[in-house]
Amino acid sequence: ICLDIILADEGADIAIAIFVPPLMIEPLGVVRQITEVSARYDKPVLAVIMAEETYFDLIPVKVGDTVPYYRFPEAAAEAAAAMVRYVNWRSIPAGEIRTFDVDRKTALDVLKRKHENGGGYLSPDEVYDVLNAYGFPVCRQRVVPVGADLDAAAKSVGYPLVLKVEGEDIVHKSDIGGVEVGIENKKSLGEARKRIESSVRAAGLLDQVEGFMVQEMALPGKEVILGMSRDPKFGPLLMFGMGGKYVEIVHDVAFRVLPLSDVDAQEMVREIHSYPLLEGVRGDVKVDIDFVIESVERLAQLATETDLIDELDMNPVVVRPQRDECRVVDARIRVRAPGKRSLSVIPPRKLPC
Ligand code: ADP
Ligand code: MG
Repeated sequence: ICLDIILADEGADIAIAIFVPPLMIEPLGVVRQITEVSARYDKPVLAVIMAEETYFDLIPVKVGDTVPYYRFPEAAAEAAAAMVRYVNWRSIPAGEIRTFDVDRKTALDVLKRKHENGGGYLSPDEVYDVLNAYGFPVCRQRVVPVGADLDAAAKSVGYPLVLKVEGEDIVHKSDIGGVEVGIENKKSLGEARKRIESSVRAAGLLDQVEGFMVQEMALPGKEVILGMSRDPKFGPLLMFGMGGKYVEIVHDVAFRVLPLSDVDAQEMVREIHSYPLLEGVRGDVKVDIDFVIESVERLAQLATETDLIDELDMNPVVVRPQRDECRVVDARIRVRAPGKRSLSVIPPRKLPC
């Protein structure tokens, strides 16, 4: 029969045999034949038998050991597509989980201290210590209390710098005019401070201000976001995407669960729609993609080595062609409160297959 010819053809890897029984014709014989022919080949065959419902109980009894059979061609085609997807997935190398040489103790000490003191958001200095310990390129920064002079901080950080309003409850600082970039000297620093104070006052948030952050200014680059949150079932969930102010609008992000191999990290970075922007379009320079991939892997390592972080986001990380010019310019870390069990288990640091 036809099926025999098709399966003999080197160009065919899989076959779907569709049979619509004409009136009075008994489909069992056809099913039997499909099964016999298929058994001679080492290729998957799916059958579609559009027969009366009673036959579906009879087939396994009367024919036995059949190829998989479906009532409708759509389901068979979907099953075939799933097989192809599975084969493709199996052919991707599993890769390996890279571990970086980090200062785990420093990071864990900060997290434990916060956890024991009630949990919640880390201060900017604590965030700095944790990220720095895990090898993320953080900006030089100093936090100055409200009312205090900014000069000493500005001198130690160095111009040009960025001035930001600081307060645990102020989440989107730039939304309320709380971020001033490109400050070149003492005079502009004073003016920037006045501008921030009056816009924060206008927003009615003056009482939430805890201080000012004087921060090293990153060189202009592409802004990406790196994040981690916890899913009760899957454990730490990593996020990567285009970042900065537009992240909520554009929503171009990729997610992965642990364990994360180097191949997973590469895929995760390349799968976002705006990936070509990182590669450089229309004469734009290409950023250091390896740095971006490695950062995702470092975040995976942090998420594996402690379960005290409920939520972390670095938005943005400014990325440039050279790794030593890339900077995390804004980050938040929320630590689990004491007494609360970790929402999720941390999966082992090895690949499932
Ligand atoms: P928020 O997210 O709370 O509004 P950010 O600290 O992320 O505040 O700052 C908003 C934007 O300002 C960033 O997306 C970035 O473009 C710019 N920015 C902030 N800090 C720096 C810095 N240190 N160097 C260069 N640009 C910065
Ligand atoms: Mg931000």
